[in-house]
Amino acid sequence: MNEEIIDLVYIVAAVLFIVGLKFLGSPASARKGNIISSVGMAIAVIATLFTKGLNYELIIGGFVIGGVIGAVVARKVEMTSMPEMVALFNGFGGLASLFVGWSALKNEPSPELFFLATVFLSILIGGLTFTGSLLAYGKLSERISGRPFVYMGQRIVNSSILIAVVVCAVLFIQNPADQNWLYLAVGLSLLLGVMFVLPIGGADMPVVMSLLNSFSGIAAAAAGFAIGNILLIVAGSLVGASGIILTNIMCKAMNRSLSNVLFSGFGTVSTSSGPVVEQGEVKPMSADDAYYVLEAASSVVVIPGYGMAVAQAQHVVKELQELLEKNGAEVVYAIHPVAGRMPGHMNVLLAEADVPYDLLLEMDQINPRMENFDVAIIIGANDVVNPAAREVESSPIYGMPVINADQAQTVFVLKRSMASGFAGIDNPLFLKENTRMLFGDAKESISTLVSEFKS
Ligand code: NDP
Repeated sequence: MNEEIIDLVYIVAAVLFIVGLKFLGSPASARKGNIISSVGMAIAVIATLFTKGLNYELIIGGFVIGGVIGAVVARKVEMTSMPEMVALFNGFGGLASLFVGWSALKNEPSPELFFLATVFLSILIGGLTFTGSLLAYGKLSERISGRPFVYMGQRIVNSSILIAVVVCAVLFIQNPADQNWLYLAVGLSLLLGVMFVLPIGGADMPVVMSLLNSFSGIAAAAAGFAIGNILLIVAGSLVGASGIILTNIMCKAMNRSLSNVLFSGFGTVSTSSGPVVEQGEVKPMSADDAYYVLEAASSVVVIPGYGMAVAQAQHVVKELQELLEKNGAEVVYAIHPVAGRMPGHMNVLLAEADVPYDLLLEMDQINPRMENFDVAIIIGANDVVNPAAREVESSPIYGMPVINADQAQTVFVLKRSMASGFAGIDNPLFLKENTRMLFGDAKESISTLVSEFKS
């Protein structure tokens, strides 16, 4: 196939990527979006195989090894471990860009400045994405401690490494024949990835992942410039831009700046308690009591959080929803953008249980209607329903947009104890007059409610 035709196929593939991304914007069309983008990638790969001078033995070997590992891991991975899997994908994407950029040097006998700069960027960003993602994987999977590792002068050390990489770049560009500066830069960029992620707490890893995802896209785009491949430039830019947008959405929903996430050492699971202004007592209830209230309810809002993922309660939640509906109640779900531990966490779990998409309402849709609901059932959510974000100026989460569950007529909180959530602060909602606590594992509590309804 001649090069013009390959470029033409690349343009078609790029269009399919963009259309696919558009479809990914809504849960209802996300599957279609995935298929469209995959078709784009498949035709791009096939077209690339027609490039002249390829070593097919190596390509087939890589394809078989990578394909088998990918298929096995994707089949085995639990839904709750998805962020870890994404961390590994990102990391290896970064490593691939590092190698693509580096190997491009071999085919360029008299490299120009722009070419050398793009090679260097793909190596620097690819390298730090690789080690940063591996460390993020370790923290997310709790193979290594999720505590932020912060020390005096950390930013100075990190800035010095970055400056050293830039110095290596300048020295290498001045004399590309001497590759020692390049080797040093590769080592430093790998070190930088580790140093960059060390101070960030395990629970903030999803934000970091989204940022590293963006980095892997930028590294790929740089590698695309280095080898003159339009499709790599387009795909890399799309990943880079969408990763930054997602990072921004997540920071906003947590009411934190990116620099606070990256440098503050927040995000470790802490036990310290924040200010509690609410005076009141905890009012536990039994599943029996909860059943009588729900039986009489005509409108119910379910507010899921991280605990629903831990308990894997989504299927019994769906069962309860159907029983409530059969009993004549309207049931909807209120979804907070950072409920759980990864973007779209609740949507994914509820989709797995076949909850219809049109029952999932966003925070801005549900809050104005909250006081019309007879019962709000909070399933393993804590921070995302904490009224301190509205009421307590000294609270670390003050200003974070939350679901105003406390404004419903009656609030049921399903959790195992009075323990705090990710932010490590107390929740005055648990002491409010209209709140009842149903202690226990969420799946067990809801299963009991389901059996009550059935009998
Ligand atoms: P939280 O982490 O605030 O609270 C989860 C609650 O679930 C805990 O209080 C815990 O209480 C309860 N729980 C745990 N296991 C179970 C179980 N088996 N059964 C019943 N309850 C259980 O979760 P939210 O979803 O409310 O908030 C998410 C937090 O994570 C926010 O602070 C957000 O900023 C942060 N975050 C979210 C990211 C995202 O992308 N979604 C990324 C990074 C951070 P108990 O132990 O008593 O049962």
